[in-house]
Amino acid sequence: MTNAFRPAPISETTPTQASEMLSEKLVEKPPGTVTPHQRRRARRYFTLSFFFFLVMALWLLTNYVLPDPNKADLSARPAPAPTLIMTNWQDITPMHRRSRTATLKKSDSLAALLAREGIEPVAADAALDTLQEVFDARRLKPGQIVRIFTEWSQDADPDTDVGRFAGFDLIPSPRQRIILRRTGHLTFDIVDQNRPLSDRFFVADALITSSVYEAARASGMAPSLVVDMIRLFSFNIDFQRDIREGDQLEVLYSRRFDGRNQLAEEGDILYAALTNRGKRYTYWRLEHKDGSAAFYDETGKSVQRLLMKTPVDGARLSSRFGMRRHPILGYTRLHRGLDFAAPTGTPIYAAGTGTVANVSRSREYGRFVKIQHSNGYETVYAHLSRFARGLKSNATVRQGQIIGFVGMSGLATGPHLHYEVLHYGKPVNPRTLDLPPGRQLDAAGMTALNASIAVAQKRMRSLATRDNTLRSLPRR
Ligand SMILES: [Zn+2]
Repeated sequence: MTNAFRPAPISETTPTQASEMLSEKLVEKPPGTVTPHQRRRARRYFTLSFFFFLVMALWLLTNYVLPDPNKADLSARPAPAPTLIMTNWQDITPMHRRSRTATLKKSDSLAALLAREGIEPVAADAALDTLQEVFDARRLKPGQIVRIFTEWSQDADPDTDVGRFAGFDLIPSPRQRIILRRTGHLTFDIVDQNRPLSDRFFVADALITSSVYEAARASGMAPSLVVDMIRLFSFNIDFQRDIREGDQLEVLYSRRFDGRNQLAEEGDILYAALTNRGKRYTYWRLEHKDGSAAFYDETGKSVQRLLMKTPVDGARLSSRFGMRRHPILGYTRLHRGLDFAAPTGTPIYAAGTGTVANVSRSREYGRFVKIQHSNGYETVYAHLSRFARGLKSNATVRQGQIIGFVGMSGLATGPHLHYEVLHYGKPVNPRTLDLPPGRQLDAAGMTALNASIAVAQKRMRSLATRDNTLRSLPRR
């Protein structure tokens, strides 16, 4: 519009002006006299230059001073795919923006969540299509929090006017943030942001009064880490028999925080020591070159063994290995394993790394899993309420991986895990089993372990001096 306006008046005036000047040069007049012709010419000059400047001024005004309605519209939309959404949002400051959170329910989908939150289906579909380019929404788990944004134009009142769905963001895993931002009518920008996390270290120092679990929880350790720790000690200590009041626990562990100082995820146990009836068990974490990690004692002997002593947490041993009268069948025969009473749904762990030999059902065992380990060992887990999702025959399982959940399928009087260990097909007592020892570190491994130990000890000392509120108990 302004471009069509500008050149036209100039091209009209210029030729007239030029011919006028030429004709004047031909007629010489004495200086000081003003003829009517000269007056007319001066007036015309004035009028012409007045219009010329008026047009210029209008052109400047429309292009640089007054906002062009089209241009204003364009600047309201952020440039496509900037690296950080923050710059994106600053571009659109004239908008009012608000957010609310919604949580993904069990057997819920992100599409269902958006519909429930009143997002118009067309906009929701467009948003989900954009999301699909970088992230599969089916990977989201129940409990996932989604932050939904609504925006209003500058002159609207967010309290009374209906806003427009402006996108959403979510943190599907501690190190990842997905941000979906509306950029136009049905167009969205997506940013897959890496969340850098930093480790912080903590010490749990507790005297055991009731249970290891209670003591560790009371000193601030997260439940998942306490379970890891119990599993770590359970290779050598029988928690149902050995723990005494007055035993002492000391753990150095990490937690990971995001850029805004919010706890993003639990970290690792770096060192754990348990003084049990005067005997001190000390384990240090060592990260191997391939990225895996294991715990070792000071001599470089691996803590993990071929099989865990108890493949279920918080269980009570309800029936031992040996001859006994079967509670349902009624006659005496060999109880081929151990029974652990635990509530239905308690997770069951693979006692050792191996290959799944059987995921099946039988009349007596109900749902059961059989795992084949090295050195001729096999483990059996029976009466499960359900199997872990995706567990199949021939699948490889890691030690401590959840394979199923406690139940009472088959011949069982109550929810419990029936656990068997077979050695070359012959049932053996898991309690008295003399398992092959863990691996021993070589010289290079020992150097790495000693370096890890030195770092952990330094961290513990600095934590102890920095935080006087930490309970410091006499070491025995
Ligand atoms: Zn049994």
